[in-house]
Amino acid sequence: MLGKYAQLKDQLGTLRETGADPFNVTFDRILSPTTAEIGGREVLLLGTNNYLGLTFEESCVGKAVAALQADGTGTTGSRIANGTYGAHVALEKRIARFLHRRDAMVFTTGYQANLGALSALAGRDDQLLLDADSHASIYDGSRLSEATVTRFRHNDPDDLYRRLRHLADRPGEKLIVVEGIYSMLGDVAPLREFAAVKRETGAYLLVDEAHSLGVLGEHGRGLAEQAGVEEDVDFVVGTFSKSLGSIGGFLASSLPGFEVLRLIARSYMFTASLPPSVAAGVTQALDVLGSRPGLRLALNHNADRLYAGLEAAGFKLGPTPSPIVAVRLGSAETAIAFWNMLLARGLYVNLALPPATPERQALLRTSVSAAHNREEIDFAIAAITAVGEELGLLSETGAALSPAK
Ligand code: PMP
Repeated sequence: MLGKYAQLKDQLGTLRETGADPFNVTFDRILSPTTAEIGGREVLLLGTNNYLGLTFEESCVGKAVAALQADGTGTTGSRIANGTYGAHVALEKRIARFLHRRDAMVFTTGYQANLGALSALAGRDDQLLLDADSHASIYDGSRLSEATVTRFRHNDPDDLYRRLRHLADRPGEKLIVVEGIYSMLGDVAPLREFAAVKRETGAYLLVDEAHSLGVLGEHGRGLAEQAGVEEDVDFVVGTFSKSLGSIGGFLASSLPGFEVLRLIARSYMFTASLPPSVAAGVTQALDVLGSRPGLRLALNHNADRLYAGLEAAGFKLGPTPSPIVAVRLGSAETAIAFWNMLLARGLYVNLALPPATPERQALLRTSVSAAHNREEIDFAIAAITAVGEELGLLSETGAALSPAK
């Protein structure tokens, strides 16, 4: 049965011979939102998606512990059977209120939110239009739906428009699916332009704000808020596993009849609901997100500082500064060596290899947190620059080592 994976097994074997296994890192102890112990050594974490640093936020931990003690460790059931507690209903109301939407439904992960949303919304006669760089959960959700799937060029509203024009005579509804911030390169969707295409073609629009909720927009509602097009977004998907520091996902909308999705979305119905402690902690995290805009400012300040520092050193990065800063590297071998050398220097980042990356690039993916301090960001810039030089990746002029602004 496993023979078909022989090639991948060999590749993994080679990977392990060259150093630590980047896909099997164990944090022996988590010391803070930005530091951990690996193999008895303290490392700086620069690849956790913990954008607001809320994993140890006292008020969230407090609410989660209280719910854990009051309601137990798990619900042992689906939302449509014995798995709906007051904490789930309160969280759904909180999300809807936060996003100015009429309704929200909570899933056990963001992955399941996309599976449930796409498979339930798009039926046999419908058309799904996906950005080519969509997350795996969007692709998997579209496979579960019986709709016809069309991919359009990444972040290209003109290509989307052409394809929608082409599909104009087809029966059924059209649903455009894009993300706020893309998880590999940290690039942002041109959402205003996508919204204009949606209006002109009569399609529906779903935005997965997994990496942009809590990060973009004056109130942290995401890219749609920042771009001023919330009215045009029919469905918002998001996750609790990034800026909210926990686990779970949601789908929110103001469309009438939304409630019926609870009896259609299979990844909602046929799986156990979130532990109530998680729901209570996330509800509190939404309060923190709303009441402490300084967290978002600190996050974006750190993002700008890291981006500027690495750009000045001469690295090729994603197109714009964002809390995801990706270093583009020529080959997978270089990226693997780079990743190991950073770990040896006490810096943990994510290694992203083709085919999971856009344009089959090998990437060092970093993500910053509001919880990083200036010294930590500067340590990361210095470590990445030093390894880049050691590997001969920086030209003399590029590696001018100008201090980060
Ligand atoms: N959507 C996007 C765009 C993501 O990047 C991710 C996680 N990387 C998910 C959905 C899934 O989120 P979760 O971790 O909650 O399953």
